Amino acid sequence: MQTLNRSRHDVVIVGGRVAGSATAMLLARLGHDVVVVDQASFPSDTVSTHSIARSGVVQLHRWGLLDEVLDSGAPAIRQITFHAGGESVSRPVKDKAGVDFFVAPRRYVLDTILADAAERAGADVRTGVTVTGVQRDGRGRVVGVLGRDRAGAGIGIGARYVIGADGLRSRVARSAGAPITEARPPGGATQYAYYAGIPWTGIEFFVGERSLAGVFPTHHGQACIWVCTPSAAAKAVRRRAWSRAAAFGELLERSAPQLAERLRQARRTSPVAGMLRMPNQVRQAFGPGWALVGDAGYHRDAVTGYGISDAFRDAEFLASALDQALGAVAEETAALALYQRRRDQELREIFEITCRLAAYPPVPAFIELQKQLSTAIDKQAKVLAARPDPAERLLATA
Ligand SMILES: Cc1cc2nc3c(=O)[nH]c(=O)nc-3n(C[C@H](O)[C@H](O)[C@H](O)COP(=O)(O)OP(=O)(O)OC[C@H]3O[C@@H](n4cnc5c(N)ncnc54)[C@H](O)[C@@H]3O)c2cc1C
Repeated sequence: MQTLNRSRHDVVIVGGRVAGSATAMLLARLGHDVVVVDQASFPSDTVSTHSIARSGVVQLHRWGLLDEVLDSGAPAIRQITFHAGGESVSRPVKDKAGVDFFVAPRRYVLDTILADAAERAGADVRTGVTVTGVQRDGRGRVVGVLGRDRAGAGIGIGARYVIGADGLRSRVARSAGAPITEARPPGGATQYAYYAGIPWTGIEFFVGERSLAGVFPTHHGQACIWVCTPSAAAKAVRRRAWSRAAAFGELLERSAPQLAERLRQARRTSPVAGMLRMPNQVRQAFGPGWALVGDAGYHRDAVTGYGISDAFRDAEFLASALDQALGAVAEETAALALYQRRRDQELREIFEITCRLAAYPPVPAFIELQKQLSTAIDKQAKVLAARPDPAERLLATA
């Protein structure tokens, strides 16, 4: 087995997308020795639509990455339209928390921008490395990870802290024994595909009976078209249809006939992707020598499109806690317990709204929840915008 700089690293992060690379970038900017490993290579896609809520855009702006996202060709989205009950209402994106547009960069672009930013800050990003479990010392403390590289050779990486940013099916969470502390019924399905050939002026939402569909413009003049429904509805349609694409078309037709009609002028440029029975769950966020961030520690239905923003928020809270622990400014358990408390406080309101939306109540109640969601996101964006520059050590005491 190859042992990479054993015990010399401050932090090893498993997973290099929105949660992992953001955490790595912030820690590296604070001067810590960070290794990121991911079994994937970048640029690469993952199963996810990618409309970023105001709070996520605030984070990109604060971290100095928003221009890079725009320069990649992701259009600034300045208009939102809601279609419900035969009515359509459009409004410009309001200027709040220093942000007056949204973005929806493809994940292969966004995740690469973050991984590159982590590297530029000094993190060592290693792709093609699959982690198989954590290593512990004689007292049970997690002290590193074990895995294998692309060629199948065994690898061990030692570090003071192991961070699981390895997504919903986190190997680090399972290997560290992080219990699920809260689980709500998994009910929702989200499916999506990309279309070219028609211009879109902004984000559009279509509220239907037990469905939410939508469109957001992304790179290369294309748009992501998505539909959220209860999983049972998605499965029933899939059983009848002769292909996944046909099932997607039928779901869209039912959920948002106006959108389906407009798509007859467009060309689908990707297969249909998505997820059924999306879990709504929170895991314990830390233990001796380890912590979780992003979907690894908290997963919610995609109906609110908030996972990327959750990951960005918690990456900063975790980087702050680790900075304190590594600098011996705070005792480790106190610092990581504060991280968990902040995460759990900040996720609460939107988690509750997400779970209620994912139960697809009647249209008026669904619309009311959407309004509550918008207020909750704006509130969180304001809190994040008011935080000090995360590259300064002030962060540690904020
Ligand atoms: C259908 C769908 C639509 C969505 N739409 C939106 C949306 O519009 N807006 C939004 O904000 N959020 C959305 N989300 C949620 C969002 O995709 C997630 O919250 C987000 O991707 C979480 O990021 P992460 O970095 O925690 O994990 P991930 O993006 O899952 O990344 C985990 C990384 O860990 C790596 N990894 C995993 N296991 C190992 C291992 N053993 N060894 C090495 N590497 C490993 C993987 O290769 C991967 O690169 C959606 C999700 C789904 C499923």
